[in-house]
Amino acid sequence: MAEKKEPKIQQYEYQAELKQLLHLIVHSLYTHPEVFLRELISNASDALNKVRFRLLTDKNVLDKDANQEIRITVDAKEGSFSIEDTGIGMTREDLIERIGTVASSGTMEFLEQLKNSKEKPDLNLIGQFGVGFYSVFMVADEVAIETRHANPDSQGYRWKSDGQGTFTIEEIDKPARGTKISFKFNEASKEYAEEYRLRQIVNKYSNFVDFPILLNGERINRVEALWHKPKGEVKEEELNEFYKFVSNDYQDPLGHLHLSIEGAVNFKALLFIPQTLPPFYFRHEDEKSLHLYSRKIFIQDDCKELLPEYLRFMKGVVDTEDLPLNVSREVTQSSPVMAKIRNTLVSKILALLEEWAKNEPAKYEKFHKNFGPAFKLGVNSDFSNREKLIELLRFESTMTEKGSLTSLKNYVSRMGAEQKEIYYLSGESRDLLERSPNLEYFRKKEIEVLLLSDPVDVFIVPGIGEYDKKPLKSIEKADIDLKKDETAQPEALSENLAQSLIQVFKETLGDKVEDVIESKRLVDSPATLVIGKEGMDAQMEKMLKMFQSRGEGFAKDFPGSKRILEINTAHPLIKNLSRLNMGSAADPLLRQCILQLHEGLLLLNDDLPSPTDFIKRMNEIMAEATKG
Ligand code: ADP
Repeated sequence: MAEKKEPKIQQYEYQAELKQLLHLIVHSLYTHPEVFLRELISNASDALNKVRFRLLTDKNVLDKDANQEIRITVDAKEGSFSIEDTGIGMTREDLIERIGTVASSGTMEFLEQLKNSKEKPDLNLIGQFGVGFYSVFMVADEVAIETRHANPDSQGYRWKSDGQGTFTIEEIDKPARGTKISFKFNEASKEYAEEYRLRQIVNKYSNFVDFPILLNGERINRVEALWHKPKGEVKEEELNEFYKFVSNDYQDPLGHLHLSIEGAVNFKALLFIPQTLPPFYFRHEDEKSLHLYSRKIFIQDDCKELLPEYLRFMKGVVDTEDLPLNVSREVTQSSPVMAKIRNTLVSKILALLEEWAKNEPAKYEKFHKNFGPAFKLGVNSDFSNREKLIELLRFESTMTEKGSLTSLKNYVSRMGAEQKEIYYLSGESRDLLERSPNLEYFRKKEIEVLLLSDPVDVFIVPGIGEYDKKPLKSIEKADIDLKKDETAQPEALSENLAQSLIQVFKETLGDKVEDVIESKRLVDSPATLVIGKEGMDAQMEKMLKMFQSRGEGFAKDFPGSKRILEINTAHPLIKNLSRLNMGSAADPLLRQCILQLHEGLLLLNDDLPSPTDFIKRMNEIMAEATKG
């Protein structure tokens, strides 16, 4: 007779990052330990979804007729807890790779940030970072997972860990497919061993899980596809609750869309716009998009094909009868049904935003502030909706209060009869922009200038070209349509004197500038730097230089463009320089002042190569000016 095999227990070390993470979770992140239950239920529900999906096409599955459900057992006296699902289960490799590693690079970054921030961190966010399982170590000192994969020839395993850096895996006899997680609550978490507490938590976070959840044998969630209900019958509370369930967010959404579309394409959808972009939105590749259902059956929780990239911050579900149930990733990627759904979703979302912009401007501005960096990029990518997207853009301007925004339409409505162009200036912040000498002319003439301080703007605005037949022009460019001010001006240098001085400027600055010309735009400042007609926007150039310094390939050979120096020939300083020039064009003080004037402008643009030379020259000029 064969001897019974000794259970072989193998010990493993957690990946180093995971050790840090566990430490953080257990020792410094305690805020809402109750989220452990949401995370375990959500994993169980994912596992059930996977098996349900597989069963659509493949009946060769262990316990193919088992009830698809989640069973929670709790014993208040013992303080013990278990949650069991009949889901897909895990192999040994799954246990090592999925439970023992942090998959997403965004996660560690996020946690580091939490650790360093002084505010109490919000562990509600943990579900967004693919490490939900570990929240169980907030309420338990030791945890066991017993699991068996749904493949008919699979083996059962028991995984055990105290969350301190190692875990063990042993083979076990487990007849049924699925996963059971069990532990005893630690001293501080005894309250969760009470049935009523667990019921409360399920109510709060997991009501919409579309598998039955049983607590000590009794069904406790209501399973319903909210998006199938008629609009008028869905209460706001239910919507908010559902939003939190699909998004893992803890705040209420900013707004929602409930759609029931019939015709060329048929689908129902419940979509939400969150209050804010999630942290690391642009870098977090596994940021989840919409959930796709087919006839109430869950298909995918991250269906990227349903929305263009610039709208991927939307959360919610789309349920269609027009896709086969066993639809694969490949099919969703190329299906004409998906393309139709996508077009409809985009136009409905844009219509909602237009409606906010018109009737709820404060809400729209909030949306624009929080989602602008993602949303605005649609202008460059979604050509069929470009006009609508341009109407939805908002900017600060010299005519708005700090922090309030204007549309291009409103800008145009304020334009004077002679003004033929729409003007903008881009830079890092409104404060810096307001100090630009290039604004002087516009301020004096009361011409409005858009102030673009979102870095994304420089990728969008120059490409718009025209709005309402009016060209959009950067006021840093040399080719804008300026009228020389004919009203009482301090007297400017004569043409001869101006040309002679410009010659000395050119000789002194050499190839540091593209050209030196007389300015029409300056009022109070002696000089300014502008960009040639073909030159690139200064802010765009700054960003390219930043990419270049990070060694990013596409910006490698980018030389940076030269500026045109404009001088104000009515300014006292320029007149003084002209006087020195009349004495001798080779006057060393004249040459030094020219260099200093140029570098002062570079400093203003945050582009001064050597502060040491600048200060040294300034000291020499002061010594000259103060000598007795
Ligand atoms: P996330 O669920 O966000 O990926 P978790 O740390 O909660 O992160 O879980 C890690 C992985 O472990 C899951 O992606 C899944 O592959 C696996 N897993 C967790 N719980 C279960 C379960 N009950 N059944 C099957 N697999 C599970």
